[in-house]
Amino acid sequence: MAESMKGLRRTHRCTEVSNKNIGETVTVMGWVQKSRNKGGIIFVDLRDRSGLLQIIFEEGDVGGEGFAKAEHLRSEFVIAVVGRVEARSGAVNENLITGDIEVRATGIRILSEAEVPPFPIEEDSKTKEELRLKYRFLDLRRPDLQRNIMLRSKVANLTRQFLTEEGFLEIETPMLTKSTPEGARDYLVPSRIHPGSFYALPQSPQLFKQLLMCSGYDRYFQIAKCFRDEDLRADRQPEFTQIDMELSFVDVDDVIDVNERLLKKMFKESIGVDIELPIQRMTWAEAMDRFGSDKPDLRFGMELRNVSDIVKNCGFGVFTGALEKGGSVRGINANGQAGMPRKKIDALVAYAKDFGAKGLAYLSINEDGSYKSSFAKFMTEEELSALVKALDGKPGDLLFFAADEDEVVFTVLGNLRLEIARNLGLLNKEDYKFLWVTEFPLLEYSKEEGRYKAMHHPFTMPMEEDLDMIDTQPGKVRAKAYDIVLNGTEIGGGSVRIHQTDIQEKMFEVLGFTKEDAHERFGFLLDAFEYGVPPHAGLAYGLDRLIMLMAKEDSIRDVIAFPKVKDASCLLTDAPNIVDEKQLKELGIEIMPEADK
Ligand code: ASP
Repeated sequence: MAESMKGLRRTHRCTEVSNKNIGETVTVMGWVQKSRNKGGIIFVDLRDRSGLLQIIFEEGDVGGEGFAKAEHLRSEFVIAVVGRVEARSGAVNENLITGDIEVRATGIRILSEAEVPPFPIEEDSKTKEELRLKYRFLDLRRPDLQRNIMLRSKVANLTRQFLTEEGFLEIETPMLTKSTPEGARDYLVPSRIHPGSFYALPQSPQLFKQLLMCSGYDRYFQIAKCFRDEDLRADRQPEFTQIDMELSFVDVDDVIDVNERLLKKMFKESIGVDIELPIQRMTWAEAMDRFGSDKPDLRFGMELRNVSDIVKNCGFGVFTGALEKGGSVRGINANGQAGMPRKKIDALVAYAKDFGAKGLAYLSINEDGSYKSSFAKFMTEEELSALVKALDGKPGDLLFFAADEDEVVFTVLGNLRLEIARNLGLLNKEDYKFLWVTEFPLLEYSKEEGRYKAMHHPFTMPMEEDLDMIDTQPGKVRAKAYDIVLNGTEIGGGSVRIHQTDIQEKMFEVLGFTKEDAHERFGFLLDAFEYGVPPHAGLAYGLDRLIMLMAKEDSIRDVIAFPKVKDASCLLTDAPNIVDEKQLKELGIEIMPEADK
């Protein structure tokens, strides 16, 4: 018996009713969270996206028919209630926004009945995520998810507000397009009209936003869906959202300035967090040297120290061997961890090996100042105390050392530092530490392909002072590229773009693109540059990750209404799926037998 709403109009969301309304008649609508029949009096917790409100049904107020309906209620029924707001008759519930009031029902309609849900609709669900994702429409009723989705909407709105006030135009760019230069695999869409041809879904609006600059729109933004068919990883989504922007007639500082003010407004007005401006900046080289990472988590110390000079003549072959091969020896200090059980240390060694370490040397400083270490016997007393001093070692500290190529040492210690911090509970989610990482290398050498690749993308401007090294030492050239990092996560990144044809041609040459290759892929942008291009720069945020950090969640799936799982499928809709033979025929597509499971 689903009734209609005819003649009824909702006056309040559940938690919009407060003690200011006592004595008034209100109409509320929502889902039954819980209903308790105490014989002659029925208590119902009514839920909508704002929260809970207690309703009381007694036959004297709601009438015989109304009371019978109230008796019939079960969890997740959708109801409308008309009633009088009263002060709570029982104890005040401090945990509820509406804990000091209740609504005495004078009318009820059952708008919809409900099956028993496959899992309870409650905060901090213990239900397996797989089941929740299959019934995402129910999962999305849970208060924690509702808060996240509302936060997301709020942040999107604040972004639009701020950027519009700053003179940005919101402009849409196509979803059906040609390959973009972000370097991941494209999602392809077959064309029916042009059999054998494919659109690519955009990995980012990069080329279009640069075209918009050529067209004079001078400040663009878009909250844009992007698609990257990358390898499976637990916290990656094949489609994700960027806050994307591009500005003309600007340099690095201008982009940073407008984005710092955007972040400040966003954090203050959505989650009440004050960001102190200016945000700290660090060059890429310094970030690697001090933290072994291009996205350092600054919520704790444990910085890397280079001890190569101290150990260069020592008798420990692991150290000297790495140095002879041009590598380095670096260490970190886990303060106060000298008593770490052997089992935990072994686990850290195993962890380090996962990141390419051949081993991990360690040394603990006993309370009496003596050392316990696997490699002490290969070292002089002076070398040992110099090592300890370099890491500010004090009694009770535990020092770890890695010796290898720089790249491996950074990866190993950078990750070890994080793992130790996680184990020690040093990562406070309430603490928001921002950092700009600047002056990224322009290129990175790909061992597999035996050539340089653009670290950001091929349109990123080299730093003017490094331009003369581009032929001789391309790997040393720094770029006008920057990332914004929050608590060890890259939340956004961008660069100043190349707008001079000669530099762009040089860049393609270094990347090993012939003129024809470049024209084949990006010809329309290069053509546009022939007709008057302003200097321009931009940045894009990963909105999902940003909201995840703001919501203090561990997974981006918890801030996306309808996420996919690790294998890129959607448990709710069963996408991707096979299609009709007829659809394939129209597209001129035949499935190879080995792919046809
Ligand atoms: N398109 C770039 C990216 O997706 C961002 C930018 O350079 O603005 O990483």
